[in-house]
Amino acid sequence: MTRPVQFRDDNLTPLREVALHEAAHTVIGCRFGLIPDYVTIVPDHECVGHVLWLPHIPCTREEWGARLYTAAAPAGLICLDGRSDWLSYGDSEHIERILPLCAPLTRDELYSDVDRLVHVELQTIFAVARALMRKKQITGQQVERVIRRVDHNAPAKRRATRKGVH
Ligand SMILES: [Zn+2]
Repeated sequence: MTRPVQFRDDNLTPLREVALHEAAHTVIGCRFGLIPDYVTIVPDHECVGHVLWLPHIPCTREEWGARLYTAAAPAGLICLDGRSDWLSYGDSEHIERILPLCAPLTRDELYSDVDRLVHVELQTIFAVARALMRKKQITGQQVERVIRRVDHNAPAKRRATRKGVH
């Protein structure tokens, strides 16, 4: 599904892109009930940023679905600049590995859901990205506080409704 560009972000520096990418994983993951240990945009030898989810090995279809939506979340940032390559190579590989476990969910349905979820959560994603830009690394508790603050200030209708994999 292609949606017209609705937001244009003129401040997309490389660091802000990384922060938004990680914030998208983080916020959508949290909405699906996952708990981040920490989120970082401090580069290491492997990547420019990552989220570490607390040890938990998915086993049910629903848990795999949560991981799938979390992995695909940055794809929804296409609404920021119309670019389709918000996913990293690692994310795309991860998605292709998990997708068959979540059948009959299709790739098209996944990305259309992700677009919708990210669109609804954009303010929350911006807020987490801002916290990341400021501190470079934030704990799961700090993430939770940022999300709670945005939820508190947002009209209920703007909040995403969780849509799991059935
Ligand atoms: Zn990623």
